[in-house]
Amino acid sequence: MNLAKYSCQSILDLALIVPKSYKSYTLSDSLEFNKKVILDVKVISAQSQGRVFKVYLFAKNLNIYLNAVFFNYSKYHINLFTHNKELFLEGKIEYRDSYQMNQPKEVKKEKISKIEIKYPKRNSSELREFILEYLTFKSLKSYDFSDSLINSILKIHNPDNKFVLEYEREKALFGKYLQAVKFLEAYNYILKLKSKKRDFESTKELNNDITPFIKNLPFKLTDDQSRAIEDIKKDLAGKKSAKRIVVGDVGSGKTVLILASSLITYPNHSILMAPTTILVNQIYSEAKKLLPSFMKILLLTADSKDEDLSKYHFIIGTHKLLYQELPKADLIMVDEQHRFGTNQRKLLESLVLKDEKKPHFLQFSATPIPRTKAMLDANLIDFSFLKQTPFKKDIKTKIVTSSEFPKLLEHIKSEIEQNRQVVIVYPLVEESEKFNYLSIEEAREFWQKRFKRVFVTFGKDKNKDRVLNDFREDGDILLSTTVIEVGISLPRLSTIVISGAERLGFASLHQLRGRVARVGLKGYCYLFTKQKSKRLDEFCKTTNGFEIAELDLKYRDSGDLLTGSEQSGKTFKFLDLAKDEKIIQNATKALES
Ligand code: ADP
Ligand code: MG
Repeated sequence: MNLAKYSCQSILDLALIVPKSYKSYTLSDSLEFNKKVILDVKVISAQSQGRVFKVYLFAKNLNIYLNAVFFNYSKYHINLFTHNKELFLEGKIEYRDSYQMNQPKEVKKEKISKIEIKYPKRNSSELREFILEYLTFKSLKSYDFSDSLINSILKIHNPDNKFVLEYEREKALFGKYLQAVKFLEAYNYILKLKSKKRDFESTKELNNDITPFIKNLPFKLTDDQSRAIEDIKKDLAGKKSAKRIVVGDVGSGKTVLILASSLITYPNHSILMAPTTILVNQIYSEAKKLLPSFMKILLLTADSKDEDLSKYHFIIGTHKLLYQELPKADLIMVDEQHRFGTNQRKLLESLVLKDEKKPHFLQFSATPIPRTKAMLDANLIDFSFLKQTPFKKDIKTKIVTSSEFPKLLEHIKSEIEQNRQVVIVYPLVEESEKFNYLSIEEAREFWQKRFKRVFVTFGKDKNKDRVLNDFREDGDILLSTTVIEVGISLPRLSTIVISGAERLGFASLHQLRGRVARVGLKGYCYLFTKQKSKRLDEFCKTTNGFEIAELDLKYRDSGDLLTGSEQSGKTFKFLDLAKDEKIIQNATKALES
């Protein structure tokens, strides 16, 4: 069986090549207009009048007489319609004094009563043969599917007239057939993830006691944090190399979990990679503050000098880590994992590989994912979720249009007077014709005229980190592109204004909003837009990242301009992550037993 020829790995892949069209060559049994029908006719007479060729016919299946009319006829027509000839014609019936069909086409007798199926592949008919041969009740039953599911799937590839009629009405798969392919798609996806998931032996079982550390923290852990620590403890103590991702909104307290994990690993080595120098610094100073002094901790950034890294228990660094001689660590961690490419994360892991064994691997992400996506991906990687934040975040989100701008200016003045900070995010760095908003460069003058300590930074800015640091210390206003998104802490930041907010996807908007009111301040997020939408209204109503992720699904196809790469490229043809939670559950269950 040559499945690979059709880019299939299994019978399930084959079953999921769903026909792109069906055509039924059944004779009509009732008189219908405005719709192509097939007639079984007998020629009574034929005559030409100028450029028109007219054939008088009797349609046996409808029991009517009618005229077939051809314009620009040829010899072919004259030969076809000879007296008493019987043949099949397809066309639309009209009524003008008498029944009439314009330009009908002959249908060959072999096709009559058959259903023609087209697959979305070039070699459609060959593929059809192949499917008929291999996609059988028996081959599907090997997956233990229910008979009704199997019958639905088979019907899609071996349709009857009733099916085709309804398909033509809906112009798509419908009812139980649609449900069946959705289920099959989920099932197939999960099955593939499961087969990809390989367990490796861990380099070490780690179980240093962290009870004193937890007890001495200046705060009490949230329940979600405690649960995540229990997950991690179990992971690290295991003979199997851990593969876990901790997902929690900005400010949900992931750093302390990173620190706890490194302490569980002590006296063995752990390594953490984070995306920016500022972030690395921040985590380092938190580590120095909270971890016991017997732990030797190293900060590794682009400015660090070369030295022997094996002296340190816990190494915290930027991607500079990837170019170092790293000690064989037993725990690898990546913070803000979505900021790194898969290759970078893999490279880090491979740098510390010991023979066939793998270090434990923990990742931390501030990009909440929808429930359905987590359910699917849980087949490849373990999840811990931080759904609570230690500080109840009090952020008011509001849409602002041009006419409300003066009021916004007042608000900004008042916040600055109270020693708070404001970030204003602009969509583009350079002047732009296409968009209706000021660029940073254009805006710079406006703000610098009115306010004293205005800082500016953008993605390609080499001094970005220094500007952000300076701003944190003594800035009032920061004009920035979306680079500000990354998880640095600006404790005095109370207000963020996002210009051209409708251009950003929910994930970005949420990350940006997450910058403000990190530690209990009252926060404000203003979405400046010239294009009001229901989508932005809904965003204003919740600050919960997991709800935002669900909203993101709901609005995904509604044309966000800058939704980020992870959101493009549709994984599923039929399954809808916003709606098909139940189906995913069922597929998961089917694969558990
Ligand atoms: P994240 O990395 O998830 O965005 P952080 O780890 O930076 O969040 O934590 C944000 C702030 O909350 C930090 O100042 C941290 O010390 C503090 N924090 C963390 N956990 C708690 C807690 N359980 N109670 C109070 N404050 C906490
Ligand atoms: Mg963080």
